[in-house]
Amino acid sequence: MRRDDPTPHTSARPVLEIRGLDLDFGTPRGRVHALRNVSLNVAAAQVVGIVGESGSGKSTLAYTVMGLHHENAEVTAGNILFEGQDLLNMPSQARRRLLGDRMSMIFQDPMTALNPVRTIENQMIDIQHHKKGSRSEKRARAVDMLHRVGIPDPQNRLSGYPHQFSGGMRQRICIAMALLVKPALLIADEPTTALDATLEVQIIHLLKDLQKEIGCSVLFVSHHLGAVAELCDRVAVMYAGEVVEQGAVRDIFHNPRHPYTRALLECDPARIRKRTRTLPTIPGEVPSLLAIKKGCIFRQRCLHAFSRCEQQIPVAYPVEREHFARCHLLEAEHVVSA
Ligand code: SF4
Repeated sequence: MRRDDPTPHTSARPVLEIRGLDLDFGTPRGRVHALRNVSLNVAAAQVVGIVGESGSGKSTLAYTVMGLHHENAEVTAGNILFEGQDLLNMPSQARRRLLGDRMSMIFQDPMTALNPVRTIENQMIDIQHHKKGSRSEKRARAVDMLHRVGIPDPQNRLSGYPHQFSGGMRQRICIAMALLVKPALLIADEPTTALDATLEVQIIHLLKDLQKEIGCSVLFVSHHLGAVAELCDRVAVMYAGEVVEQGAVRDIFHNPRHPYTRALLECDPARIRKRTRTLPTIPGEVPSLLAIKKGCIFRQRCLHAFSRCEQQIPVAYPVEREHFARCHLLEAEHVVSA
């Protein structure tokens, strides 16, 4: 564990513990340092959101936890513990056994997540291969789950193929498949991005209801702050491969302390009060992760940067209980001594 590990320390063991995780991608142009010193906990039955711009590393983190990252990815430091088991150092067969059983995932695009040449029935029975029971029992469970996610006439629709369902229905089927195995941890990677606003609200409510019913933990990746506020208990804000702030949803949304979190919230269309033709953006671009220079990763876009930000990487300063931010200003303000 690193010196400035900002994750909350509670007596109950979290379902997922990520500690000081560094991940590089090997590319022809050099090594891309895609994740750096990422630490995050997901407690039992807790929903943790990961937010940030495109390129912040949130999906890379989700795929790394699932062990689905690309061949050119290499974890260079840190640990990922799932129910106390070290995912990065367990035999690949044992890790595969966890997938679709104790851990499951909902992908961003329901059009490509389902196999187009197999019926929904076959896919929903296949996903239960870890579970005991006859085919008819597994079929009955699939029908029940399709009914719970709001697919009308599930008995008959089960024999359909993915192309016979709308995008929203397909995402409901993906949710049904992911939760059919009653996982301890569900990872949802931007599950509403491909859907329109009305469907997004429906899917978020559905996920919330089913999470409560099943009692699983959820790692919810999204760039939609409203969805995160609606669904999550805690939030981690990522920027250019680092978690720059994390805390309870109410703390992050009502008392953001990192300049990047504040800028991100100011760009949320739901917070714009005046009529405007141009949506606000954060000036500048996410820096190249090929060669990380010393100092704060956000300094080129930060309105509050000062000389120290060029020289030192900020540690995680506690703001309140279980609320941390990586910004030198917090030390200067003496909010809580680090
Ligand atoms: Fe801005 Fe400096 Fe804080 Fe980084 S450490 S967010 S550059 S003030």
